[in-house]
Amino acid sequence: MQKKIILSAIAICFLCVSVACLSPAKKHKKKPNLVYVFPDQFRKQALNFWNHPEFKDAIRTKADPVKTPQLDKFAQEALVLTNAVSNCPLCSPHRGSLFTGLYPGSSGVTLNCNAERPISSLRDDAICISDVLKTEGYNLAYFGKWHLDFPTPNDPVNPGNYVDPRRPAWDTYSPKDKRHGFDYWYSYGTWDVHKDPHYYDNDGNRFDPKEWSPKHETDEVISYLNNEKGQRDQNKPFALFLSMNPPHNPYNSLNDCLEEDYNYYKEVPLNELLHRENANPEMKKASSAPFYFANVTGVDREFGRIVDHLKKIGEYENTIVVFTSDHGETMCSQNTNDPKNNIYTEAFDVPFLIRWPQMKKARVDNILLGTPDIMPTLLGLMGYEHKIPNEVQGKDYSKAFKNEKDAQRPSSALYIKNVNGNKNNDGLVTDYFPLSRGIKTHEYTLELIIDKKYNLKKTRFFNDNKDPYQLNNLAVDKNSPVVQQLLTELANELKRSDDPWYNKKVLNDWIKY
Ligand code: CA
Repeated sequence: MQKKIILSAIAICFLCVSVACLSPAKKHKKKPNLVYVFPDQFRKQALNFWNHPEFKDAIRTKADPVKTPQLDKFAQEALVLTNAVSNCPLCSPHRGSLFTGLYPGSSGVTLNCNAERPISSLRDDAICISDVLKTEGYNLAYFGKWHLDFPTPNDPVNPGNYVDPRRPAWDTYSPKDKRHGFDYWYSYGTWDVHKDPHYYDNDGNRFDPKEWSPKHETDEVISYLNNEKGQRDQNKPFALFLSMNPPHNPYNSLNDCLEEDYNYYKEVPLNELLHRENANPEMKKASSAPFYFANVTGVDREFGRIVDHLKKIGEYENTIVVFTSDHGETMCSQNTNDPKNNIYTEAFDVPFLIRWPQMKKARVDNILLGTPDIMPTLLGLMGYEHKIPNEVQGKDYSKAFKNEKDAQRPSSALYIKNVNGNKNNDGLVTDYFPLSRGIKTHEYTLELIIDKKYNLKKTRFFNDNKDPYQLNNLAVDKNSPVVQQLLTELANELKRSDDPWYNKKVLNDWIKY
């Protein structure tokens, strides 16, 4: 009897030890998934929820009269940023900074990628967020527009030819050695026929689905989430990026959007659609407004489908979900036909909504988040701050996202505009020219534009608090305390980002490097 008791006691002890040994594994936190959705040219103002009472005065101007019911709902449970910017508001430079945490001069992507610009292409040796997550055992999927590689004649279907019939070629095929850890690929370079998109899969097979691209891409994302074709290892966490092209131009007809979305806007007078104080509804481009907003509404619906599907498959509570864009769209503001690549708030600012596991409460924050900050901040939120590559120039603001006390916050955001520099005899661009640099704080926007001799040519200077539509370009007195403070911010940011303006000491009679 006594022996039995002793044996039982030993058995219980063994069981306890076993459970104790097992428990750390059981308690091991599940790695969070990441779903990052970023349409192209979707401006911050094109979100209906800014009109809701709980977001009153969150941004200083009117919101567009746009329908975004899914994002309105998502904003109720997300961190919503009011001052996120795209530092170099163009497709390729933005994407280069997003993935590498580097400013364009360091990522390798200084200009929009096309076959005339061999100098602008994502560095093969840059460590992208996808490279980092791969080392953490993630499945990595990329859907939609990539636009980060210099096009070469490498058409997988017609070897030795470009995939793009246009000259110079813009679209390109990115082979496996250019994918930076993404193991599932359903992507293309750049292509703007919204109802006739095409995609290359992992092995370079081309698909032409003849369908409005955001709808098709969302179907593909849902198939991936369901693992319908064994696209991923169910035992691994996943990180998924979806870059939708709409609401990118063209936006001129029902060839560019879905009729059900156009119907919301087709009878609204243009001066009501373009009701910003700095907008000119007389511009030729104004007729694009209903089609632009139709694309916004369609993108909103597709984003909502992804969120709903994450909930349906039980992954929502373990997934960081981001909605943002690569840059905005001026859409008849400031009388410019350039939709992007300028410092005006409609182009420079981007929407940025994020929800992560354990996020307790929706919140609005005015942090001046820049594009290179996104990679380290996401890694910080995911618990991989120790994996942020040393060369990263952006900062990890995950503590500020969590509203932790004493979290570091930026006091300004850098603006960058580059253009083609010299060309060689073959017409290829051999360097880029850093045409303008600027700085945005919570109060002011300042841009300095130079001529080819590096002399100051023009300035843009706005008091965004008093003049949120940026109608009054103030004179710049370099001796005024406000301007001096802005120039100091600019000098610090140019130095920190190893910018050519810092290296050449451009305008050093103005900027104290
Ligand atoms: Ca773009």
